[in-house]
Amino acid sequence: MYSPSINKLIDALKKLPSVGQHTAQRYVFHWLKSGKVEVNELKNALDSLLKNIKSCEICWNFSDFNPCEICANKNRNKNQICVVDEAQAVAALEKTGAYTGFYHVLRGTIDASDENGIENLKIHELLQRVKTNQEIQEIILALNPDMLGETTMLYLEKQIKQLQPQIKITRLARGLPMGSDLQYSDEITLGSALKNRFSN
Ligand SMILES: [Zn+2]
Repeated sequence: MYSPSINKLIDALKKLPSVGQHTAQRYVFHWLKSGKVEVNELKNALDSLLKNIKSCEICWNFSDFNPCEICANKNRNKNQICVVDEAQAVAALEKTGAYTGFYHVLRGTIDASDENGIENLKIHELLQRVKTNQEIQEIILALNPDMLGETTMLYLEKQIKQLQPQIKITRLARGLPMGSDLQYSDEITLGSALKNRFSN
């Protein structure tokens, strides 16, 4: 019912999380009405994302640089790696100012219903770091306190202990409500969860 160009953009938008047909239509007609300046702003932002953003091949965060600014920073604590599910969690933890070690972004959690789950995550890459980096003394498992986060943390704990039993494995304090999303926690709660981390 719409012209092909409109449908094409609606279909592309529908691939975004929580965007259905109606929301996609609303966005497209918003742009059609708002005019070229606003559409160009979006186009330029997407172009710049495509052109500049890379995966850091050490921690798997997204960055304009590879290695990213955090991995390249020689002043950070080489003895700690904080494991998170998504890149946004790195930003949330950095905002607390309570952590000076390095990170590892898994890019998801283990989902037992998804057969290829583990292969798609950066778990192999984490275990390689654990195997080859003798400076690591502590690994902080900072995944969300929900079912998938718990499953993933248990799996990682087992694997890391097998490889390097001397590494201390800790988790964020239980100050974070069960089922909460770490990246949306406020800095104070997250900072204190980090400070009061514990090991099993
Ligand atoms: Zn990095």
